[in-house]
This record gives sequence, C-alpha cells and structure tokens, in this order.
Amino acid sequence: MSRDEMSALQGKRLHKMVEYVYHHVPFYRNKLQEMDLTPDDIRTIDDIVKLPFTTKKDLRDNYPFGLQAAPASEIIRIHASSGTTGNPTIVGYTRKDIGVWTECMARCLTAYGVGRDDIFSVSYGYGLFTGGLGAHNGVEMVGAAVVPASTGNTEKHARLIRDLGITGIACTPSYALYLAETMDQIGISKEHIKLRMGAFGAEPWTESMRKEIEERLGLKAYNLYGLSEVMGPSVSYECAMQDGSHINEDHFYPEIINPVTLEKLPLGQSGELVFTTLTKEGMPVIRYRTRDLCSLIPGQCECGRTSVRMSRITGRSDDMLIIRGINVFPSQVESVVLSMKEFAPRYMLIVDRVNNLDTLQVQVELRQEYFTATFDTPAAIDELQKRLASKLKSVLSIGANVQLKAPGTIERSQGKSAHVIDKRNQ
Ligand code: ADP
Ligand code: ZN
Repeated sequence: MSRDEMSALQGKRLHKMVEYVYHHVPFYRNKLQEMDLTPDDIRTIDDIVKLPFTTKKDLRDNYPFGLQAAPASEIIRIHASSGTTGNPTIVGYTRKDIGVWTECMARCLTAYGVGRDDIFSVSYGYGLFTGGLGAHNGVEMVGAAVVPASTGNTEKHARLIRDLGITGIACTPSYALYLAETMDQIGISKEHIKLRMGAFGAEPWTESMRKEIEERLGLKAYNLYGLSEVMGPSVSYECAMQDGSHINEDHFYPEIINPVTLEKLPLGQSGELVFTTLTKEGMPVIRYRTRDLCSLIPGQCECGRTSVRMSRITGRSDDMLIIRGINVFPSQVESVVLSMKEFAPRYMLIVDRVNNLDTLQVQVELRQEYFTATFDTPAAIDELQKRLASKLKSVLSIGANVQLKAPGTIERSQGKSAHVIDKRNQ
C-alpha cells in the first residue's frame, strides 16, 4: 500500500475503533467525555493526538475485565502478561482477534522465509504468556510443521532439533544462547543440525548478541516484537534486510512520544513507543504507552514492504535505573560486555545502598576459553577487571564494582532474562 492509502485505511479504522470503545468501555467513554471529545472528532489518523493515553496502571486498576469491550460470550481466549508487580494484565481475545493475530504472525514467519517444508520449534513458554500459542498459530497458518517444544528440558529439545531436522525456532535470545551452551555440553555441534532461521524476541537484545546466536547455532536470527496488551508476538518483525522491524501497522498504529512531556515526536526521533489497536475487539487499547524506547525509521525498506519500521528496543523507560542520580540502562552494560571478546553475554547488575550511597556491582561471566587460559594468572584477571571497569565508567558515567565470574555461574533463565537486582527497594 502507498503511504496515502495506508493512512486513509488507518484513519477509517481509528474512527470505527473510537466509536466502538466509546459505546462499549465506560473507562474510555468517561475519558473522552472529560476531554469533551466524541467519536466524530476523530476522522483521520492525524486526529489520534487528540486522544488520551492508556497506561499499564489503567489496565491494572481495571483488573480483570474492566477494559474489555466485547461481551464475555465473544471471548474465546484469555492470556495474562507476566507483570512482575501487582495484578497481572488480563487480555481477552475474540475469534476475530485470534484470526488477526494468526495472520500477523504468519506475515512475520513469511518474512523470515518459513514455508510449508519447514519444521519449526516454538520454544517460547506456552501458557498464560502470549509467546507460545501466538507463534504456534502462525506456524500452522504458514503450513510448516510446528513442534510445540515450549521451554524446559533443553537437552531433549537439542536432540529433537538434531533428530527431526528442525529448521526454524522461536524463543528468547537468551534461551537461544542457553540452547547453544547445552548443545556444546552434550556434543551436538551446528554441523549436526539444520536450523536455518530463528525468531527471537520478548526481551531486548543487541547486534552483537545476534552475531553470537547466528554464529553458534548456524542460522539467521530475526527480531520478533510484541506485547500482550496490544496482541502478543507479531506486532513487528524483521525482513531479510535485518534493518529495523516492520510494524503490522494496518492493525497496530505506532507513535513515538517524549515520555516526560508526552508530546508526539517527529519520525526518526527516539522516545517511548505507543500503540493503538485499529481492529481489535476483545480488549482494544487507545494510545497504549508501552514503556519501550525506540524510534520509527524513515524511508522505505529495500525488501519492498511499505510498512513503517521500528528500531531495536534500547530499553524500557521503566527499566531505567537511577544510580547516584544518573540514568543507567542495563542495555548500556550489555553493549560494553559484548564488545569485549573475553566475556560471555551473561551479566547481572546489583544495585544497593550503603551508608546512603548507591552502589553498583556488575557481575560478568568469562568465556570458557578465556577462563581456562587465565584462571591461575591473577595478574591477567586483574588487568581484565580494570579494563572492563574503565570501559563501563566511560559509558555509564559512574563507577561500578566489577566482579568476574566463572563460566556457567550466573543464573540462566528460560524465559525473559533478568539482568538487575535492585536491593534498594527490598
Ligand atoms: P510484560 O513483560 O510487560 O509482562 P509481555 O510479556 O507481553 O509483557 O512482554 C512485552 C514486552 O517484552 C515488550 O513491551 C518489550 O519490553 C519486551 N519485548 C518483546 N519483544 C521484544 C523484542 N523483540 N525486543 C525487545 N523487547 C521486546
Ligand atoms: Zn523490509
């Protein structure tokens, strides 16, 4: 679609959506009435800036079904987001919603090159989390054979990848690396397996992590982005260009805002990503603040798709740590750790407060080769520790107490990896 056609479609859908929530969700009707707005004020997609934002707190305050627009009889599936504090967010889907989700997921998989001849392992967790079932439906729609491996029992999974000739996988990037480690331990090398492509998401990752996964598993690693409040995985996906993720913007309309002033930012600038669902029936959201930080990429992609692309997520605005007054994102630490060949992509930030002063400890795991070569030479370890500390200092602008750890000693996660322990709030 040309940009004009897409904007026209989005405007038409937005008007319909606002009309729908106005009549079905008291929360939105009240908000619009407070702002003296009616659905007739929203005619084109540019009118979206008149609408109020929706936050995670709004979802929690209306737990469990307060923001649901469709009657209970139309809901055929319920998921809950993993939320670490307070009530989880409950999301109900109608049959049409599951259809849209499945098609969006199939678009992602098609862009990755998945087809009928592929055998595809879904290793996101199945259950309340949207990752497993969301990806699963898309694989079936494309016509590949889906292996619902889920997480857990990684050795068995590794053997299945080898024995069934599995060609594609969807999981978190950290689980992909864990899988690679497990394969090393049980003697399966990338020459024994047929993995060609992987759909990685559900947590932020970096270009160097991509290289590492591609190298160790012998596949092409693509980004897959989504969140349960908006749908689940399939909100955006990378194409063969691996240069930003195309947003399924006929269903999920993106904006970037300044998280402090809340004003909409021009194309290309970084800020907080906001989504409005344009077709959802179960639990539509209007200008939902994702807390994810990124930018929308101007210009058309070389692959030929005309949909707008988003950059990688560089952090969550609520992930941000404030240490001695300085904003610190775990992703900054990750970029330093991954730029040094001595380290595995495993790290943990431990923040504490001692005598009213914030302290930051960064634990990083050594790679096996490097550990074997140096573990009895304290001088080498000392030098490495100092080098890492000085790099961290220049990137973070605050000093960190660096602790080097033996391979395999930082706790692995099978779902989203946790990189921060903040003891100040405990
Ligand atoms: P929550 O983690 O808030 O309970 P979800 O389980 O739906 O909710 O996770 C959605 C969040 O996961 C996104 O808002 C984003 O922060 C993160 N996420 C998902 N996919 C990606 C990705 N490809 N890259 C970076 N972050 C991602
Ligand atoms: Zn593209």
